[in-house]
Amino acid sequence: MAGCPPPTRATSVPLIAWAAAAYAAGLIAGLSSEAVADAAIVGAAVAFAAAVCLALRRASIGSVLLIAALGVGVGGNAARLDRDCMARERLPFRCRVRYEPPALLAPWRDRAGTAIDRYFASDAGLVRALLIADTKDLDPEIRDAYAAAGIVHMLSISGLHVAIVSGAMLLLLQAARLPAPTARWAGLSLVMLYVLLIGAPPPAVRSAVMIGAQVVALALQRNTSPWAALAWGGGIPLLYQPRTAVDLGWQLSVSGFAALIAGRAVAERALPRTLEGWKRKIAGELVVSVVASFATAPLVAWHFGRVSLIAPLANIAAGPVIAVLQPTLFLGLSLAWWPAAASLVAAASVPMVRAFDLVAWAGAALPWATLHAAPTLVTAVALGVACVAVLAACVEHFWPRPVLVALGAVAVAAFAPAPSGVEVEVHMIDVGQGDAIAVRTPRGRWVLFDAGRGDAKRDAGRTTIVPYLRARGGALALLIVTHPDADHAGGAATVLESMRPPAITEPGFTSATETYLRALSTARARGVAWHRARAGEVIDVDGVTLRILAPDAAWTAAQTNPNAACVVVRLEYHGATMLFTGDADVAEERWLVDRAPALLRADLLKVSHHGSASGSSEAFLDAVRPRAALVSVAARNVYGHPTPRVMQRLVDHGATVLRTDQLGSIVASTDGAGWTMRAAGVRWRLP
Ligand SMILES: [Zn+2]
Repeated sequence: MAGCPPPTRATSVPLIAWAAAAYAAGLIAGLSSEAVADAAIVGAAVAFAAAVCLALRRASIGSVLLIAALGVGVGGNAARLDRDCMARERLPFRCRVRYEPPALLAPWRDRAGTAIDRYFASDAGLVRALLIADTKDLDPEIRDAYAAAGIVHMLSISGLHVAIVSGAMLLLLQAARLPAPTARWAGLSLVMLYVLLIGAPPPAVRSAVMIGAQVVALALQRNTSPWAALAWGGGIPLLYQPRTAVDLGWQLSVSGFAALIAGRAVAERALPRTLEGWKRKIAGELVVSVVASFATAPLVAWHFGRVSLIAPLANIAAGPVIAVLQPTLFLGLSLAWWPAAASLVAAASVPMVRAFDLVAWAGAALPWATLHAAPTLVTAVALGVACVAVLAACVEHFWPRPVLVALGAVAVAAFAPAPSGVEVEVHMIDVGQGDAIAVRTPRGRWVLFDAGRGDAKRDAGRTTIVPYLRARGGALALLIVTHPDADHAGGAATVLESMRPPAITEPGFTSATETYLRALSTARARGVAWHRARAGEVIDVDGVTLRILAPDAAWTAAQTNPNAACVVVRLEYHGATMLFTGDADVAEERWLVDRAPALLRADLLKVSHHGSASGSSEAFLDAVRPRAALVSVAARNVYGHPTPRVMQRLVDHGATVLRTDQLGSIVASTDGAGWTMRAAGVRWRLP
């Protein structure tokens, strides 16, 4: 952006307004029921159209409407595709847009992937992410460290990577003695091909469009405002896929670049004239980095439930590394046809990869590296407004007004009412085949029943449960592992590691499953109190009563099947009740019915063993008489769960059956009297 003149006031104000509108649209669409998402799409298209017209200084209402209509029309098709996804997945945030290269280029991407695996060996996962936007082989632990250090955005192809690759190509083309204008156009064509090859993720498109705008501006010998370039770069992905507004990569890319422009403007103005040379450059980068971390903080907090405090420093440390590493990796890949040279370049990249890793691990290891923060919608929007106002203050000559707006917004965020604390919520988190049910107490803390499936490759604790709980905020007060099977204890180690609950309760069934032993050793290492569940015991967490009904030590000792010794708990909150059964089988159900049938009665039932015929016997359901039955099960699982006969039996007992394979995550909430259910974007009162 070195050639860009300082933004002029006439274009920067409407474009900042556009950035604010798009930002708000992203936040709203992130929550979206369909109607809200549609409104956000139309709103974003109109705002974009207005911004384009204002940037071109031809703001007639007719042209605004024309461009907006085009946006809505093109977006309509994409929105219809989303609706299909919504019908399938039921949860809007699961409808991630997939970014795949066009069929013609897909084999090239595959070939590039194979070459990376051959030359970069143990670093292949990281290099695949950095070069061809393929993050599926990335070690989750590495990703966690990068997230804690606040540089996880460097692992997915972003505007930064495209800009670096483009700069390197331009240098090469100029070294090949191409005249400057030809080199620019050739470079632009190559960049566009590259962006298509990696499947055109929005941040990369944003960057390519902005590079294109620069090339066009140079050819026409016209100055472009960086804000106008950003408006084009941010807006074009929205035109062909409006749901991009929900894409975190796009949101970070646009807000990050806006912060970059604002940060440079403020550094230019605020740094003392006496500061010169490399000192001025570093001070300038620090200002930009702080502004960028600040401007993206509400988004990061909204999506991840935490912000990295070390991010500004980590970004400055990692920036130069990636600026050298990325072109080197690219060179290695483009020399794949000459094995000797490719191996040499790959070997040369190793120290840089280590340095990149070192920044992440060192950043993550610092105490207070991350701050847990889970904003409500009101606080997130207020902080978003504050960020936009601060960016405006950075670039405006008359800064007191935006600063006042920012202070007002911060005050709104600080004094916004906290969510009312009289309700208990039960979240049956969709973890596929397995269980993870989180109970939220009136004080906003969590009790988690089971932690989903986990093995070396996939870990529901890391991929689903911890992000789910973190995004909603609140500490984990207790982890209950109903039994040691891998689809219940699988994610436990990660949950213990990340959420550090004070205690874990489990049946004490002697088992040697690897995941279970890992959970126990993690609990020991982290000082989590281990507790054996005992029938008859009552645990109170923030006014929510958890009555343990099974197992007892004698019963557990007599069992060979872990399912027969599941922890069974009855939740009681004033008059409302729910029964948690784990994978309890018919034998354990009979034991329960014989011991204390009256205590089995419950409004809601967590159906045992994913709806298998091994549980939910007639006698048991007669005792429970549930009004709703919740089944945690994966669609098309290999076990054939749930059994249709059991589903019919539940209906015959008067229960409404709710299944995660059909509805996604299910939330039941109660104020102690009745239950309100929420699933698939629909909310209803349980009759
Ligand atoms: Zn199970």
